[in-house]
This record gives sequence, C-alpha cells and structure tokens, in this order.
Amino acid sequence: MSGADPGEWGFDTRAIHIGQEPDEATGAITVPIHLATTFVQTAPGQHRGFEYARTSNPTRVALERCAAGLEGAEHGLAFASGMAAEDAVIGLMRPGDHVVLGTDAYGGTFRLIAQVYGDRGIGWSAVDMTDRDALAAAIRSETRQVWVETPTNPMLTVVDIAAVADVAHAAGADVVVDNTFATPYLQNPLELGADVVVHSTTKYLGGHSDVVGGFIAVDRDDLAERLSFIQNAVGAVPSPFDCYLLLRGVKTLGVRMDRHCDNAQAVAEFLASHPAVDRVLFPGLPSHPGYEVAASQMRRPGGMVSFIHTGGEAAAVAAVGATRVFRLAESLGAVESLIEQPSTMTHLSVADSPLAVDPGLVRLSVGIETVDDLLADLDQALG
Ligand SMILES: *Cc1c(COP(=O)(O)O)cnc(C)c1O
Repeated sequence: MSGADPGEWGFDTRAIHIGQEPDEATGAITVPIHLATTFVQTAPGQHRGFEYARTSNPTRVALERCAAGLEGAEHGLAFASGMAAEDAVIGLMRPGDHVVLGTDAYGGTFRLIAQVYGDRGIGWSAVDMTDRDALAAAIRSETRQVWVETPTNPMLTVVDIAAVADVAHAAGADVVVDNTFATPYLQNPLELGADVVVHSTTKYLGGHSDVVGGFIAVDRDDLAERLSFIQNAVGAVPSPFDCYLLLRGVKTLGVRMDRHCDNAQAVAEFLASHPAVDRVLFPGLPSHPGYEVAASQMRRPGGMVSFIHTGGEAAAVAAVGATRVFRLAESLGAVESLIEQPSTMTHLSVADSPLAVDPGLVRLSVGIETVDDLLADLDQALG
C-alpha cells in the first residue's frame, strides 16, 4: 500500500501532486504563474529561498520537483529547451574531453556535439550502442560522457542502458540518457545505472504542441550542484508560463501515454501486414531486434512507430503528403498524430554523416485520437 509519503505514491499521484501543494497565501489549487523577477528580503541575504528569477522561481521549482519525482530522482533542473538542457550537460566537460554518442542520435544532439563543441576542443565518436564491444573500443581515457537514446530516433533501436552503464562506468565515464521518447512513465534510466537523464519536455511531457522545454534529472549531488551552477550562470531557463504549461501537461502524462501505447501497438500491427510496408520498426513487435530489452527496461514500448515503404523515397514522400488525420510535421509526443519523412525533414542536417537515414523511412508519432480513424487514414494514404 502506498501512503502519505510522496516517495511511495504511484506515478499519476506524483504527477498531479508533487511540488504542487495549494498556494499558502490563497489556497489556489493550481501552482500560480509567478512572474516576479525579484523577491523582497527582510535583511540583506535574508529571504524565503527566492532572490532573483533566473536563479530560481517558484513556478519553476514546482515543475522541477514534480518532474524529478517522476524520474525518481533526487534533483531536477528545468531549461528553456531540450537543447539547452543538453548544452548544460555537455558544459560539464572541458576542452580535451571526449564523448561517445550513438549512430542514430537525435540530429540536434549530434549537431551540438560535432558542430558547436567539436570546434571548442571536445572530441566525439559515434558508435552502434547495441554493440558492447564497439562501445568499449570507442571509449578513450579522455571519455567523460556516453550519450544514449533509447528507443532511438527515428530507427527506434533499443539500447540496453544497464549494459552501456557497465562498460562506461568501468572506464570512468558518466552515462547520459535522453529519455524523451520513453518518458518517465515508461522508463527510469537512473534506476538502470544512468548518471544523468535529459528530456525534451517539448514532446510527451508537455504533450500538447504548445511549449518548448528541457529537463535534467540526476541523483548525484556533485552533478546537481555543477548543473545548477551552469543553469544560473548561462541562464537558459524556461519562462514561468512555460513551467505552468508543463506542470499542466505532466498531470495527464500517464493517461496519455497509455493511449499513445495502445494506438501505436495497433498501428504497428496494422502496418506489419500492409503490402506497401517493407519493414516496421517498433519495439513492441516480437520481430524487432530490441523486443526483449525493451520488455525488460520499459513498462511498455511507447508511442513512436517507423516504417520503410516498399516504394522507396518517392512513395514515402507521397504517403506522408496523403494523410488527413496524421499531420505532416516535425516534432512528436503530443495528442495529435504526426507523420514525417526523416531524410528530408528532421534528419536533413545529418544527410552526409553517420546518422543518415533510409529515404524510404517514414516516422509516425502516434497520437491519442480514435484508433480506427488512424488506421483508416494510413490505409488510404498507403493505398
Ligand atoms: C526534440 C528532441 C530534442 C531537442 O529538444 P528541443 O526541446 O527541441 O530543444 C532532444 N532529444 C530528442 C530525442 C528530441 O526528440
């Protein structure tokens, strides 16, 4: 039985209540959007925990406590975007350090590491994170961080977080997991041995395509202290209104994810038997190479489905232009279903890199609409 201790609450109770006690002054049941940039002190240095809004803000603190609670983490830090959160983590390194990332890392992560930090003296290597030996071979004495995404974007490859953590920790490197695709509802990387969890809260945590944000969860005090220093020193913090939208979105994360997962499973099974589909990439299908690992480290396989069209690039382009319920757009994780062709959209910037993708690949972010409408829409677009 769970009790009065928030640490023992179930996921949905934590999402709705952690960090969100009724307002002390008014009893307001939702966290106010605190716009104040500065907070009155009773004597120099005497305050109630808030001095200046870049450093800390009550609406942001509510979000940070709530989202940390969802990851089961000791510490949480909110940022203005997923990339700002990633930038803070990479900011833990110095020139001469080295980072290992996956060959199908998020394009923005690859760009940040290779094109921004690469020029500032941080080395990098991209490897297949499902290949333990390749990972061990890529790690050098200067390697400080190993970046993992699972499931990956857009190939939905599943990486064994505990196995990566074994290899990385043996070499003295920290493991950073981008948990955007899985969300804390489906996967908690810190429990699997990760040191840092990053999120683009723009996706499932916000969940309604109306806010850009990022988040970092850590257990280690040393990492929390340095990241919080960077958060304040660099200043890539979210606005109070964005924090409010995220708190509002997160309350329904569990119920939304259940529907995303139900719909994605149905879509994947439908596509698997469709003649226009060469191959479906979805960790909830037993044919997927990551099926077993996903079943052991995720509660459910998630809401993202990719597939390769039998007709190659031209057919993929035609299909993504023909859907009516699935909207042709980048991004993912919100209530409405989205369709895209990564090679000309999200992955255009990595065309000539190790991250290049099959031009016949189509990525779906399966939303929470009525499932029969989604299946009928895909059927007419593929037919
Ligand atoms: C969107 C995304 C990011 C970047 O987040 P922004 O909020 O767009 O800055 C990072 N990682 C993954 C997996 C993403 O999907």
